[in-house]
Amino acid sequence: GIALQMSAISKSFPGVKALDGVNLTVRKGEVHAIVGENGAGKSTLMKILAGFYHPDRGSIEVMGTPIGVMNPREARDLGIGMIYQELNLVPDLTVAENISLGAMPRRGPFVDYRSLAANAKAVLKELDADIDVGTRVGNLSLSQQQLVEIAKVVSRNPSIVVFDEPTSSLGDKETRILFNVIKRMRESGIAILYISHRLQEVMEIGDRVTVLRDGSNIETRDVAGITPDEMVRLMVGRDLTEMFP
Ligand code: ADP
Ligand code: MG
Ligand code: MG
Repeated sequence: GIALQMSAISKSFPGVKALDGVNLTVRKGEVHAIVGENGAGKSTLMKILAGFYHPDRGSIEVMGTPIGVMNPREARDLGIGMIYQELNLVPDLTVAENISLGAMPRRGPFVDYRSLAANAKAVLKELDADIDVGTRVGNLSLSQQQLVEIAKVVSRNPSIVVFDEPTSSLGDKETRILFNVIKRMRESGIAILYISHRLQEVMEIGDRVTVLRDGSNIETRDVAGITPDEMVRLMVGRDLTEMFP
């Protein structure tokens, strides 16, 4: 099935057409990478999906339902989760409390800490992330904090989760842990948008890849059927041999 359909999306800023008729289809349970040079429009596309920008033209369907103008909160409630490079956690609260901040709206003065902890534990287990829910988030490593952020988003049962350059501050071992978590999410049917300029990573974690260039989607391909060299050629619109004769 289709989780996300973006059709003919255009968005201009004063003096620049950031997106020009972009089409993107993301299936349930796939990791769909978005690649493109700096300025190609990746972040603008993501910010539209997150409800931060409104497109000038085009339409969006999430799980088959047409989406009108939405703000970030509405986007979240529609099942669109975002993992940014800057994490959105409260260091003085525990892992369980941070995850639960995402899970439930405030219900009143009574909070059942045991059920919060049980819920947080269950989500971390589902992701195969080995983190104690009673630990203060400020005492965790950056990579563990990222897993808590992911657990927080997953606890809202999203249908689509967008990762924006998630490995930029991770080492090899931590990247491996992240990829395992992303694979778990994929198995559970979540559609994953993976924005990255690290093509080797795209080759490893991606199922399909969409190449953006100058605000247009150039091509969507199965990752199994494309090489990093071809990806670069599509990204820059020229042969590498022309660039480096
Ligand atoms: P990418 O994430 O692929 O690097 P962006 O979506 O950030 O690309 O940017 C696409 C184009 O839109 C660029 O030319 C950028 O300068 C421009 N742009 C993005 N956001 C804004 C903004 N808020 N105001 C003006 N121009 C913007
Ligand atoms: Mg950029
Ligand atoms: Mg960007």
